[in-house]
Amino acid sequence: MAKTQLQLPVIQNWSCHNCGGCCREHQIDITEAEKKRIEHQSWDESRLQHSGPFIVEVGRNHYRLAHREDGACVFLDDKGLCRIHAEFGEPAKPLACRIYPYAWHPAGKNRTATSLRFSCPSVVQNLGPAVTQQKSELQNLVSDVLANVDRDYDPPLIHLTQPHGPQELSWADFHQFIAALDSSLADQSVHFAVRLMRTLSWLELVEQSQFETIREEKLTEYLELITGASVKAQPDNELPIHRPSRLGRVLFRLISAQYMRHDTEADRRQGMSRRLELASAAFWFTLGAGTVPSLSTSSSAETAFPLEAPLKDVKFSQLEGEFGGRGGKFDELFARYFRVKIQGLHFCGPANFQTSLVDGFRSLALMYPVVLWLARIRCAGRRDNRLQLADVQASLAVADHNFAYSPALGSAGAVKRVAMLSRMKQLTALVGWYSL
Ligand code: SF4
Repeated sequence: MAKTQLQLPVIQNWSCHNCGGCCREHQIDITEAEKKRIEHQSWDESRLQHSGPFIVEVGRNHYRLAHREDGACVFLDDKGLCRIHAEFGEPAKPLACRIYPYAWHPAGKNRTATSLRFSCPSVVQNLGPAVTQQKSELQNLVSDVLANVDRDYDPPLIHLTQPHGPQELSWADFHQFIAALDSSLADQSVHFAVRLMRTLSWLELVEQSQFETIREEKLTEYLELITGASVKAQPDNELPIHRPSRLGRVLFRLISAQYMRHDTEADRRQGMSRRLELASAAFWFTLGAGTVPSLSTSSSAETAFPLEAPLKDVKFSQLEGEFGGRGGKFDELFARYFRVKIQGLHFCGPANFQTSLVDGFRSLALMYPVVLWLARIRCAGRRDNRLQLADVQASLAVADHNFAYSPALGSAGAVKRVAMLSRMKQLTALVGWYSL
């Protein structure tokens, strides 16, 4: 296959700061060749300080790196470094470990878009050199990723709304939508919540349109018209704020509970007791009364954004006041997050369970109130009502671990629930309400 042209996010920095979080929180699937390579490295119990196998078979010809009782990969050392990397160099590691936190998605013929996972605390904090400065290393890495990919992909559908049927466009026209989304969210003259509401409103018009005859220059004019109209309809920060309805809040809490989950190998080992814990939590999230169940212990978020004291119990009712979620530092973080996901095509199509551009963007938009709601739990847990940047950063790291990866959030039912929130005008209500 010809060398791919790599699109890189222009607003993101990154380098690894060895927190070891990804080695605790991710299952690493390996190929037969990687299994053989690691076996030839002659690991034994004394070098690994681990008794038991260092590779486990989880299905026919399907292998993973083993994890210790505490959930950490058996190759993670006490300093948070990978033993394979330390002894044999970075190329000796499994490809899945070398890639993280990058994610690559098809963006046209011989064209690949780059995104990053904000479950890595260094990505959330924008630490390290600009991603654009790492182009040559990334180009080598992406060649390894695409080595066995020998097909071109069609662009994701714009929307699935009947009766017009699927609206397939060329890649060039699809990128016009991506550019419009990116520029809509980059407008720093208004709060991020306003940018999000404007974008959701012009996407409603997109969903009612068919694109058989709106192509190329006509599509450029169409997008200018509808994005311009959304700015005229909401010209400043004076947002109409509506309390989300009862049904809207039930659906929102259930979706937020899925984003809160942070299942590690240690959780999975609990078996039936974990399943009972989750069933009980689902009951309380539906009811929205009493104490908010704790579902998450993200070690990388806890290490990178430590708390001064253990959090106290939080009641659902404590999360409905004002927490000061709008502001420069929060808006910078959300704008960077959304724009990296949009530029990296990390919200629709093959990157997000084959959702259309409109459905995928709605699920991404929901991340805004979800993250601010999770941040409120952390804030209220220390008996405070003003969000700090670390509350939002830690919550984003937890939620993005699941965004576009949790099958429960990518199921047809979950996509329908987000579409229902949108139809009921609850998506914009949630954006406004939890931005306060
Ligand atoms: S989570 Fe990020 S910073 Fe931490 S070890 Fe993994 S890649 Fe490095």
